[in-house]
Amino acid sequence: MPAGTAGREGRSSQDRVYHENVRDISNRPGEMRERTREFTVPEKMGEALAEVPAGERMELDVRLESVHEGILASVTVHTTMRAECGRCLKVFTTPFQVEFQELFAYTPSEADEYGVHGDHVDLEPPLRDAVVLALPFQPVCRPDCPGLDPESGELREAEAAGASDAEIDPRWAALAGFESSRVEASAVRAEEEPDSGEIPESESK
Ligand SMILES: [Zn+2]
Repeated sequence: MPAGTAGREGRSSQDRVYHENVRDISNRPGEMRERTREFTVPEKMGEALAEVPAGERMELDVRLESVHEGILASVTVHTTMRAECGRCLKVFTTPFQVEFQELFAYTPSEADEYGVHGDHVDLEPPLRDAVVLALPFQPVCRPDCPGLDPESGELREAEAAGASDAEIDPRWAALAGFESSRVEASAVRAEEEPDSGEIPESESK
């Protein structure tokens, strides 16, 4: 750490979790570095029903490639999101992963292009964009969450939801076959009843 940056440490130490030092590969096209590191998220990401909260652990698999124009970063983000289920309103946490790739140019030519800042690149802006875009807009605690009963406000019974024949999961096909054989059995009984019912009918004449 060069002397002279110490005075700024307090202000920027939180942002620095997203900094990647590229001094050893800068202006050396063809050089490549891979790093995995883990840290605590300093500031939450996401504004809607789902977010990565501040204080959550985040792990980055980072590949930095030196190219002629700058540094190409390929990043996989592993973390945990906290969300409110859009159906049952339960707050839940679930592992969350997103990948992105970004070029950090030595001389950014357009306003939306990221640059190499001295000896480092700042992954934070593109990482935040990638995470926010990938967070679910309508999170559900599990794919088959039945949601709340509109009348009682209670969680619906699981079998009440998605009971349509068209949506039977192949894994439940055997069970569905069992169900339909029960239906057939009751249909047979139903057919027998009109026969026995004719006798009283003829008696009534
Ligand atoms: Zn739910």
